[in-house]
Amino acid sequence: MPGETVAWLEGLFADLSVRAPHGITWEVDRDEPPQRLRVSLAGYGPVADLEVPDSALVSRLAVAQQVQRHVDAGWAVALPPCPDHGSGLVLGRADDELRWRCPHGDADCAVGDYQELLWPPRSEYHAGSLLGERWRRRGVRGVARWSVQNGVVQVTLHEGADEDAVRDAAAPLAVELEWIPPVGWARRQENDGETLAITNAMMWLARLDGPLRRSSSDELQVGGTPVRLSFEHHVGAPGEPLILDGDGVPFANEGDRVICAGGFAPSGPVSGDQQVFQVDQMTRRGSDA
Ligand SMILES: [Zn+2]
Repeated sequence: MPGETVAWLEGLFADLSVRAPHGITWEVDRDEPPQRLRVSLAGYGPVADLEVPDSALVSRLAVAQQVQRHVDAGWAVALPPCPDHGSGLVLGRADDELRWRCPHGDADCAVGDYQELLWPPRSEYHAGSLLGERWRRRGVRGVARWSVQNGVVQVTLHEGADEDAVRDAAAPLAVELEWIPPVGWARRQENDGETLAITNAMMWLARLDGPLRRSSSDELQVGGTPVRLSFEHHVGAPGEPLILDGDGVPFANEGDRVICAGGFAPSGPVSGDQQVFQVDQMTRRGSDA
């Protein structure tokens, strides 16, 4: 879990990025202040190297103002813009938090909530990505795909998705729903080995292979990389088969050579966080000597 200051910075940069002409990248050297914060803008030279001395409001305000100046100067734009006036929002203190406000007095939101100002969308150009972000922020899961056309949201959901939450986030736009079959798992025998895989879900196709190991009681590694299995499975107790399928039938043992298809989940902004490979399909090729 990121520290509280990192979570606040994530909100700040999310707000600045929504209307940024190119990407903003940033990283901190530690989870908690005092921290060094480095900010770079795609296609713009100088990197801002700032200190976050502590989590006090006055320190956050100073850091945020420096970041905002750096970003605005780099691209000659005022970010984040008021949705109705286009002029840059200004940070100010309100009780125990910092808020974005329009100099004209209309827009007002907490840092991290800028996207809430943009809904309902003024045009359909950004509506799809704004809606995806709204679901993400509200923790709505199970949305497979969607589009927005003529004021109507067409959305396809996985089984188990919260239909009411999907509609609430999209309101006042109308929603037309479609469901896709539940995600499952399958086990099959092929010429080059036996395979376990997810079914009815999008699969990532990066490859990872090597010997299968247990790194702690229920954590797995392949070739030294931490992995997480997307499909239903069980991890056996020490001394038992390492992976059992969704029916509890043994599939692979410690030391078996496996070939995985999947992908790395996005990692957090703290340098040195170890990446985990999400395995959507695993083929067992037999054990290494
Ligand atoms: Zn305004």
